[in-house]
Amino acid sequence: AIDITKMNKWYGAFHVLRDIDLTVYRGERIVICGPSGSGKSTLIRCINALEEHQQGSITVDGTLLSSDLKNIDKIRSEVGMCFQHFNLFPHLSILENLTLAPIWVRKTPKKEAEEVAMHYLEKVKIPDQANKYPGQLSGGQQQRVAIARSLCMKPRIMLFDEPTSALDPEMIKEVLDTMIELAEEGMTMLCVTHEMGFARQVANRVIFMDEGQIVEQNEPEAFFNNPQSPRTQLFLSQIL
Ligand code: ATP
Ligand code: MG
Repeated sequence: AIDITKMNKWYGAFHVLRDIDLTVYRGERIVICGPSGSGKSTLIRCINALEEHQQGSITVDGTLLSSDLKNIDKIRSEVGMCFQHFNLFPHLSILENLTLAPIWVRKTPKKEAEEVAMHYLEKVKIPDQANKYPGQLSGGQQQRVAIARSLCMKPRIMLFDEPTSALDPEMIKEVLDTMIELAEEGMTMLCVTHEMGFARQVANRVIFMDEGQIVEQNEPEAFFNNPQSPRTQLFLSQIL
């Protein structure tokens, strides 16, 4: 589904991503971990062209990510994204947040967009919040709204960048449960997270990044029990 080959990126003179080779197959659930500043967010953001890369190629379902705006639009329409901060529009109701893009970008009729939105609000278990405003919801509820908002665009791939790291502990589980459900339904997922329990339970592959490189990757069992690189070992000893 996602094919990244020899991808390099610089921020000015700073070489932030180095020779990234990564293929994400349909239905895969990949967790990316690594120290702060290792380039995890940058990698995720390159995949839907929130950041430009300078060398190598990124292909999503056969569409090459280039400066061609048509390709960027096509890729963004297939790739949903969910960040640490939920980026909901504070002056719009939950329902309006969910139907905005379907109505204005996809030209979905309002009634249909609202039906789809309610379907996903039920999925993330907060249909009763539809007419409230983001500021009236807890952090965990807002993050589930953000996930539902992505799902309303019917993505084939979901990218997550530390979706639970801004949440209070008691709200982390409800967001992880939503992500686990998505995974069980077969969604292709690429998740940057420090939730290693989630990685063990849900990921079929864990990737460790350090200094802009993919240092090591393996299935979770082998990754956690038998890390190969000293950098991976050091990182795991610090977080586990
Ligand atoms: P964290 O775990 O803290 O979120 P990360 O692995 O997601 O870290 P990135 O945000 O991808 O790391 O940043 C990688 C490196 O690139 C860091 O050294 C960061 O300072 C640098 N960087 C990120 N964004 C920019 C930018 N817009 N301009 C210049 N440098 C940047
Ligand atoms: Mg980051």
